[in-house]
Order: sequence, then C-alpha cells, then structure tokens
Amino acid sequence: MTGDDTLDRMLRCAPAPAERVVDEFRARAADVADKTAGDDFRARWRALAELGVLRRTGGGPDGPGPATRGLAAIEGIGLAGTDPGLCYALTSQLFGMQHPLHAALSEPGRDLTEPVEDGRTLLCHALTEREGGSDPLSMATRAERDGDGYVLTGAKTFVTAAPVADLAIVFARTAPGRTPFALTAFLVPVDTPGVARGETFGKTALRSAPMGELLFDGARLPATAVIGQEGSGLGVMTATTAWERALILGYALGPMRLLLERTVRWAREREHFGRRMGASHQVAARTSDMAMALHRSRIQLYALAAALDAGTGARGLAAEAALTKISVSEDYLRMTEHATALAGVRAFLPDTDLTADPLSPLAALTYAGPNDLLRVGVARRLGLPVEN
Ligand SMILES: Cc1cc2nc3c(=O)[nH]c(=O)nc-3n(C[C@H](O)[C@H](O)[C@H](O)COP(=O)(O)OP(=O)(O)OC[C@H]3O[C@@H](n4cnc5c(N)ncnc54)[C@H](O)[C@@H]3O)c2cc1C
Repeated sequence: MTGDDTLDRMLRCAPAPAERVVDEFRARAADVADKTAGDDFRARWRALAELGVLRRTGGGPDGPGPATRGLAAIEGIGLAGTDPGLCYALTSQLFGMQHPLHAALSEPGRDLTEPVEDGRTLLCHALTEREGGSDPLSMATRAERDGDGYVLTGAKTFVTAAPVADLAIVFARTAPGRTPFALTAFLVPVDTPGVARGETFGKTALRSAPMGELLFDGARLPATAVIGQEGSGLGVMTATTAWERALILGYALGPMRLLLERTVRWAREREHFGRRMGASHQVAARTSDMAMALHRSRIQLYALAAALDAGTGARGLAAEAALTKISVSEDYLRMTEHATALAGVRAFLPDTDLTADPLSPLAALTYAGPNDLLRVGVARRLGLPVEN
C-alpha cells in the first residue's frame, strides 16, 4: 500500500454515504472549474449551483441527510480545487441562510428564494455595521412601522456577496434599547427603491468572495418581508449563526486536504542535508500534526451535520457549533503554519505550488463570531459567571 493510499484511508472518517458524495462532487466539479476558470463570480457560482451544491435535500433513501449531503458536496468541490473564496461564499449561503431560514420565511419569501438552489438568485446576510460586528444589540439600522409595512433606514457593512446579491437578510432595530426583542429580520430585494449598494471592499483574505455595503434610505418594506415575526430578530440570528458556526468551516476541508497532500509530496521529494527532507523527525512531526488536524476537523464537522440531520435543532447545538468553529478554524490556521514553515521561501512567492495563504485561515478567527467571544459563550454555558 502506498503512502497516498494510507493517507486516503486514514482520512476517510466520515460515514460511507458522505464519502461517496465527496467523491462524486470532486469528480463533477473538476470539469466545471476548468470550463469556468475565466468567468466572473456569478457565472462560476451558477455553474457550481447547477451541480446541486446548494440543494437543501438529502441524498435519497440510502444517501446522507441534507446537512451531511451539503457538507460533503462542499468538501468535494473544494477538493476539486474550486477557489476557496467562492467555496466559502457558497457554504455561507447554504448553511448560514438557506437551511436556517427556510421554515421561518413567509409565503412570498419562499417564492423569492425558490431560485436560490440552482444559483439564479443569490442571498447575503446583512448584520454587521461599521461601528459594530460582534455586538448586534448596538446596531443603529432601524425599521419603523408605516401603515401596514416598515421603513428601513441605515447601513450594513462588511457583508459577503453584498456587491452581487439579489436578496438581503437584513437585521434592523424595531424597538429601542438592548432588550432581546428589539431586533427584527427582513428579507429585502436589493432592487427595492431606497436600497443601494455602497462601498465594495477588496479583502486580503478569501479575495474572490465579494464584500460590500448595503445602504437603506427610507426603503419601504411590506409586512411580509418580516422573517419570523417582529421582535424575533435575535432568535432568527441565533438560528442562522448556530447553523453557520456548525458547518461554515466545511469549506476549508478541501483546501486543508490539498495543503496536506502537497506538503507530504514536498517532504517526500525535496533533498537537502544529503537526504530527503521527510527523513527529519521534526518535518515528520509537522506532517503528522497536519494529518491529525484534518482528521479531527472532518470528524467534528460530520458529527455536527449528523446531529442536525437527526433533527437536533441548531440552537440546541450552539455550544457544539461554537467549539467546532473554534477548533476547525484554529486547526486550519495551524496546518497552514506547518505547510508554510516546510515550504521555506517558496511559500512567499506568488504562483508556486507551495505559495501560502495564511490570511484566509486567519479570517476564520473573526467571521461567524470571533473565536474570543465564542470561547466566552462556551464558558458561560459551562456555568462560569463570565459576561461579554
Ligand atoms: C471574511 C469575512 C466575511 C464576513 N461576512 C459577513 C457577512 O456576510 N455579513 C455580516 O454581517 N458580517 C460579515 N463579516 C463581519 C463579521 O461578522 C465581523 O467582523 C464580526 O462579527 C466581528 O465584528 P468586528 O469586525 O466589528 O470586530 P469587533 O466586534 O470589533 O471585535 C474585534 C475583536 O475584539 C475582541 N473582542 C471584542 N469584544 C470582546 C469581548 N466582549 N470579549 C472578548 N473579546 C472581545 C475579539 O478578539 C474580537 O475578535 C465578515 C467578516 C469577515 C472577516
């Protein structure tokens, strides 16, 4: 048995039906990546969505449940070399929006989001404001009652896909103060009069995922734009963030595996000090640590997907979701650090086989809830008297 076979067997720690979906999407997405290489973001998004990546259904009678199937499809397209920024944005929409929101949408909302699964319509999750990210109750964007609808005023910033999205899930204040019922979530078509796209931000991490701002200048919304009911915004946010924290790092499984494979190849082949580089115990230990990080990340993510498929509500899994988000993001960062160290100078040259991207894993410490704050939340659930 070769080293490649051993690596493959060792890392096949997800349930067999999920592994089959990973293999299927890896094969199908390879072709798409080649054909759409020069296309714009939306065209590449659409091509991957047409493969079924954004489907919210399971894999049939003997197949995995919907969350596991989605996770495996995302891992498969990542393994096919899909650009990580695109992969991240697809994962964020599938798990941070489509899954948690479906049940809470009104009939018109369901009609509007129907073309999301095949990529014709694109969503964004507009929560953060210039002055505040991790403290939602400090938000200034407000929706005021007006007749049978609302008038929306304010701005949402640093929103993934805002420059290209058709529909925004917007969180706004419908009551003053920091009470749990002060916020409401709305489904807002971006072409609504009074809604405009603001600044676009060129990021240093996940560069290809567009990020921007949405501006609301007295935009009139019908009452059916409310997701859930007035005052339930914090509850909606708890559901979207729990789902997102649980599975967003699924996007990294493909890039993590590719990083491990290229590092193993490099350590096997590179000659220095009169021997192959992998003959050094320190190099070997770094490589094993990388395999260990990927192994436990896969186990954690697929375990959470299985719990969601078994019917455990995302809110009931909030602590596990936070632990998984912290663990996988920090494992991704540590793997990148090992790969960077072992690549030497080549890590810092653009467009080599060993070029490093430490900023994308570093960004994972911030989005979907900064890890520092998630740690505080986990400790509070353990009974520590700690507050944010
Ligand atoms: C790649 C990427 C994609 C994003 N996509 C979206 C999106 O689609 N929609 C959206 O709404 N937002 C998005 N964001 C924004 C993201 O949600 C915010 O960056 C995040 O909520 C943190 O807010 P902040 O940046 O204002 O950091 P701050 O709230 O200023 O916090 C910065 C740091 O301060 C420390 N800190 C602050 N307060 C505490 C405390 N009480 N306890 C412990 N530590 C503390 C932590 O280390 C924290 O990381 C994205 C961000 C990134 C990087």
